[in-house]
Amino acid sequence: MPSIKCKCGKRLDIGTIPNPNEWLAISDVDYDGYSEQVDAEALYEKFTHFLECDNCGRLWFFWNGFNGPAECYEKSKHI
Ligand SMILES: [Zn+2]
Repeated sequence: MPSIKCKCGKRLDIGTIPNPNEWLAISDVDYDGYSEQVDAEALYEKFTHFLECDNCGRLWFFWNGFNGPAECYEKSKHI
């Protein structure tokens, strides 16, 4: 099963369906293009996929799909 290794060392699966570490995001502009009931598969095509490491909380965004490189974001708190 494909996976990526987080900076903390935890291996995150990519192919699990449904994936408990995977989130789906869509831009507000793209979402605004839908005004009626949507075809779930058509909407799914618009999503950006990201994984949340359940060990350290880092987020791994696949901006160009799973075939492209993942970009890591580390959580920080604003005080
Ligand atoms: Zn991690």
